[in-house]
Amino acid sequence: MDHLEALYAEVLSHIEKDPHREGLKGTPHRAAQTWRYLTSGYHMDLTKLINSAIFTSEVDQMILVNNIEFYSVCEHHLLPFFGKCHVAYVPQGKVLGLSKIARIVELFSRRLQIQEELTSQIAHCIEEAVNADGVGVIMEARHMCMMMRGVAKQSSEMKTSVMLGSFRDDKKTRDEFLALLDH
Ligand code: ZN
Repeated sequence: MDHLEALYAEVLSHIEKDPHREGLKGTPHRAAQTWRYLTSGYHMDLTKLINSAIFTSEVDQMILVNNIEFYSVCEHHLLPFFGKCHVAYVPQGKVLGLSKIARIVELFSRRLQIQEELTSQIAHCIEEAVNADGVGVIMEARHMCMMMRGVAKQSSEMKTSVMLGSFRDDKKTRDEFLALLDH
């Protein structure tokens, strides 16, 4: 039993009358494995991920990838939050391979997060990676800590957005982004 597993066994002994019953036999092991996976973003190599997928390009129009599914963990309650992420940027000389945008979302999602910070990290990462003229990121998510506990607000969704560069300074760019998401 490794250290994390042992800690889960201890947690079980605090929250369950009979922590050694049949159904819980492999639970510390599975929980430890699960949490390593849910936080695997801490060990992903961002530089390696991005550098192999930056291409020179003349394109200076908006590039949008919407409805990227993500699953993250709320750092306040250690419960999941999950939803969709919409990413757009206006390049100036360099573009990012399409699938890499989803990988960047994953890299930052698979950590302990709050949604506001997650949104900001994704936006800044893309801005820096390709020196974009502007970046817009919108995330809509449902939080288990709201749905399962306390007031049990089951249908409320949290929306966060971060606009950088031309997305922040130029209303036309921002409106184009929002209009594309409406379709
Ligand atoms: Zn929470």
